[in-house]
Amino acid sequence: MQLTILGSGTAIPVADRFPAGYLVTTPRQRLVVDLGPGVLRRLAQADVSLREVDAVLLTHYHTDHCADLAAMLFALRSPHFAGRPPLHVHGAPGLRRLVETLTTAWPWLAPRGYELVLHELAPGEFTLGDTTVQALPIRHTAQSLGYRLTTPAGSIAFSGDADTCDELVALAADVDLFVCDAATPDGQKLDGHLTPTLAAEHAERARARHLVLTHFYPECLGHDLATAAAARFHGQVTVARDLQTLRTR
Ligand SMILES: [Zn+2]
Ligand SMILES: [Zn+2]
Repeated sequence: MQLTILGSGTAIPVADRFPAGYLVTTPRQRLVVDLGPGVLRRLAQADVSLREVDAVLLTHYHTDHCADLAAMLFALRSPHFAGRPPLHVHGAPGLRRLVETLTTAWPWLAPRGYELVLHELAPGEFTLGDTTVQALPIRHTAQSLGYRLTTPAGSIAFSGDADTCDELVALAADVDLFVCDAATPDGQKLDGHLTPTLAAEHAERARARHLVLTHFYPECLGHDLATAAAARFHGQVTVARDLQTLRTR
């Protein structure tokens, strides 16, 4: 499996990091986790057409994680994408209301030329093509889900935005790549988010193989986040960069 970082930033605009988005390429499909504003542009830069995106998984409904869903629904109405396979969008309860509300504001988001299938998820496991998806509630908002994607080729876990919780450890247990919120440096913790040290402590308890720190607020600039994490985690540590690719093995 391959992970492409589409956005390692937050709602606060910075030049080199877009808000949250991740592309997962499995042996048989392309999945996108979160669609922050600008992520469609990053997909194009990663040379992936919207025709090729099989499914979207949203961790929660803060705008820095889902604003480009509207842009995607508008783009998919174009004749460019007519006849593409159905697009499956997954998220916690509230997804249907979000899409209905967006479509009330912008009637031109209603699907045309393709089928849009919305899935409101309860915590648990389901199958998505060649991928087993585990969704677990994560401490951030009442509708936050973390996702673990597993195929015979490897496993990747996504915290979404997260504060300390045991569910994160369960989600990342023995995972190949653990993509984890590390929003601010140690000593500047924000409510509802983790720091590099806290992310590393969860990764260590989970025995994850490789910790990928992400979702950096501007406060992170100039801080050595990797060294802070490596002090508490024995596996590999990466500080995510937009358009970087990583492999599960
Ligand atoms: Zn966020
Ligand atoms: Zn959030």
